[in-house]
Amino acid sequence: MTPRIAVIGSGIAGLSTAWLLRELAEVTLFEASARAGMGAYTVDYESCGSVTRIDIPLRIFCRGYYRNLLALYQAIGVRTIESDHAGVFSDEGGRILLHYGTLRAGRHRLAFLKPESLLNPRAWRLAAQNQRFFRRVKQDLGNSERFADISFAEYLDSLRSPAEFVDTVLLPILSVTCTCDYASVLNYPADIMIDYLAGGIHDFGVMYAEGGVDNIVPRLLEGTRLETDAPVAEVSPLADALRIEHRDGHSAEFDHVVIATQAHQAAALLAPFPERAALLERIPYESSELCIHTDSRVMPHSASPRSPVGYTLPNGSERAQVSVDMTRAFSRFRQQDPVYQTWHPLLDIPAERQLARASFTRPVVTRDSRRSIRSLQSLQAEPGNRLWLCGAYMTERVPLLDAAVQSAMRVATGLGARVPWSSPGGG
Ligand SMILES: Cc1cc2nc3c(=O)[nH]c(=O)nc-3n(C[C@H](O)[C@H](O)[C@H](O)COP(=O)(O)OP(=O)(O)OC[C@H]3O[C@@H](n4cnc5c(N)ncnc54)[C@H](O)[C@@H]3O)c2cc1C
Repeated sequence: MTPRIAVIGSGIAGLSTAWLLRELAEVTLFEASARAGMGAYTVDYESCGSVTRIDIPLRIFCRGYYRNLLALYQAIGVRTIESDHAGVFSDEGGRILLHYGTLRAGRHRLAFLKPESLLNPRAWRLAAQNQRFFRRVKQDLGNSERFADISFAEYLDSLRSPAEFVDTVLLPILSVTCTCDYASVLNYPADIMIDYLAGGIHDFGVMYAEGGVDNIVPRLLEGTRLETDAPVAEVSPLADALRIEHRDGHSAEFDHVVIATQAHQAAALLAPFPERAALLERIPYESSELCIHTDSRVMPHSASPRSPVGYTLPNGSERAQVSVDMTRAFSRFRQQDPVYQTWHPLLDIPAERQLARASFTRPVVTRDSRRSIRSLQSLQAEPGNRLWLCGAYMTERVPLLDAAVQSAMRVATGLGARVPWSSPGGG
């Protein structure tokens, strides 16, 4: 008989799991939001006579580090497009500290200083420190497991990385990549950061999926039944099945259940599985806000054409404010008036300039959360297991889109599916 599998949560992890299982099982995907989770916040942007769709968050990726995601997109026929994400770093008074642009040479990305930084010795220093740092990180990539027991802060100390470079460039970039405070970035296990930093982002620059989430979600839903507005309240064991109870009181039975929510959300569903719930609760997470808007004050004034990503570094703050000028970063917005996606907005953006505002939570990786993930992986490798946990947090990597797909590959393989491009590696 065809097994019945429930997948809870339709972010990229749940969608990928459902897609990988579609020929093996009867899959039902339950999503708490009104739309598939991956596209839950997408909005329309109308200007200059055209309407474009803006994904929230943007979901960029690069060659090298995102092998699983790129293989998935290729398998479902989603093409990728290069994006310019060169940056301008300024203090809270709008003074530019570093401004660089990028050029493409084939698949590679070459950075250069913009005119106002050419006359600034500090910008030259930061650029040189950046080059030295990435050269060193790439040397350490081959044996990054040597650094698994130290924090990223300890790794930076061991390299004697200049505080000027760490505070002005490295932490602002990593705080938005990991969407967490500087302190949490510094507390990441060093090998995980080394693998990310040396994995391709520096050499290849970033890309995005053609057509965005609207082009991805229907392809991943092929062969799966999606129930939206269907928040699950609890998963409980039966003799030879699992029961899902919804918040509205109705319930259903499945042979297997894949929980593809975030870790803290999964813990809340698992009171009948106290061991797993306790392990999930050890995975910390942080919250942050995104605002989509047309307020150009989030970017510093620049004499030369401004790079698309503005990092504002307020004194004493634990995070940067990071704004992407979408008309400069993504070709599909080029003909429209400037529109920005700002992470951690510090500026008071007037309501009439806002298109959308959304709050997100995101796991952070610590040495303890890593131990917890290993224990959870061991539990789901036990014979006869019916309850699976899936999500970007379930790998020993930065919880980005690729980690989510890798986790889906692991769960699907555990359930007997064949992954068309490879078997799930490491993490
Ligand atoms: C601001 C921000 C920017 C980011 N930018 C990038 C980027 O550019 N590139 C990149 O690679 N990664 C990026 N990420 C990370 C990326 O978004 C995550 O890695 C990815 O979303 C994780 O996918 P997931 O499927 O594991 O979890 P989620 O996307 O969190 O999906 C979980 C789903 O479960 C649903 N759910 C929760 N509880 C229940 C319930 N009880 N019942 C039913 N459904 C439920 C939720 O509604 C949600 O749809 C960003 C993250 C943030 C916060």
